[in-house]
Amino acid sequence: MKRSLILPAVLLSLLSLISLAWAQKTASTRPVTIIRAGVLIDGMSPSPRHNVIITIRGNIITDVADGGVAIPTNLPADATFIDLPQSTVLPGLIDAHTHIFLQGEDPAEGGYDIQLLKYPLAFRAARATVSARRALEQGFTTLRDMETEGAGYGDVGIKMAIEGGYIPGPRLFVSTRAISTTGGYPLEGYAPEIEVPKGVEIIDGPIEARKAARGQLDHGADWIKVYMTHRSWVGKNGELVSQPTLTVEELRAIVDETHGWGKKVACHSYGGEGMQRALDGGCDSIEHGLQLTDAQVAQMLRQGTWLCPTLSVYYTDWAPADTPEGQRDRKRASEHEVSFRKALKAGVKIAFGTDMGGIPWSEPIAQEFPRMVAFGMTPMQAIQSATSRAAELLDMKGKLGVIAPGAYADVVAVQGDPLANIKILEGVNFVMKDGKVFKNDLPSKK
Ligand SMILES: [Zn+2]
Repeated sequence: MKRSLILPAVLLSLLSLISLAWAQKTASTRPVTIIRAGVLIDGMSPSPRHNVIITIRGNIITDVADGGVAIPTNLPADATFIDLPQSTVLPGLIDAHTHIFLQGEDPAEGGYDIQLLKYPLAFRAARATVSARRALEQGFTTLRDMETEGAGYGDVGIKMAIEGGYIPGPRLFVSTRAISTTGGYPLEGYAPEIEVPKGVEIIDGPIEARKAARGQLDHGADWIKVYMTHRSWVGKNGELVSQPTLTVEELRAIVDETHGWGKKVACHSYGGEGMQRALDGGCDSIEHGLQLTDAQVAQMLRQGTWLCPTLSVYYTDWAPADTPEGQRDRKRASEHEVSFRKALKAGVKIAFGTDMGGIPWSEPIAQEFPRMVAFGMTPMQAIQSATSRAAELLDMKGKLGVIAPGAYADVVAVQGDPLANIKILEGVNFVMKDGKVFKNDLPSKK
């Protein structure tokens, strides 16, 4: 008996030696990239760091060394050295509220409705690949895409194509079809006899709500998106009024189901009754959040609810001032500023979001940063909202939105100091995603 045990033991230790050697070999064969950054905003630290050497192996950052240290001399012969002494280096940026399947629909070209009524899905998917590429070109290496607007599970397909290396694009966290109620989403305004498609999955009642969440999670949703308000208008006393959609019971069924899958629920919510139901129903993030009362801010702090404001989109395309729509548009913007300032002051967790797609993808995503700074954020707070804070929202703390050992090598660079002029972030010159350089317009040696 004893003898027969010895042989397997020897074999086992031999095997483990071989596998150790193999592991060391693969570790050492992962390509090494060294980036020298003149200035580093690492996504976490309160102030920038200078003359930093970032070491990357494969797609992971393995070392970040400060203070003018020498370039390591013991590098493998095939190591890549990227010298950015005149640049400010940052983590890849995160936009936590986008729509790659929307293109800033021009009413003159048929607006939103034409997307669902006349465009084949393949056409919309082709355009979504362009949106994804546009985001990556601008240094946004991660998006939380907040529903496909009638394009079904198209976002899951785009994500697969990016992950498979077929098309360039950011890391996607997708929410697929989204959920609202009867009377709670376009297309609308058609004759009742005509059945038109809807931009979301429509539910009525907690059973349908739970079933919709299950279906979307089953088909690849990373987040569930719920519309808790729909139409908005200016009320009799000049206040902004928003039509609530789901009941608390309907929302609770969705939140309960989604949390069971270890995932989270994002709630489009402008204010009023719909906002209250969103908070009482346990939403994880409030999208837009145009109108927050003091009590609601306190409830968000208590519950740890995120706010994903989207300021810029409410400052464009206003209807004429003397129309009800024009008054509503102006009221939305002015309320949003007040609520943003209030939430910021109170310490509500804020993640950067834009509603790109509502804004044409030809426009800069980073236009949101100066709005946040104008409404009270420091430039560093605004940057962290699009890096480490947004990563936390995505449950990717330490992996995304930070330049630190163990994080994915998503790295961007700009020329100049974004802390002095935040608009500089509209001109990202260098983009690395997952350890691979996607774009480098900088006049630097490689
Ligand atoms: Zn949106």
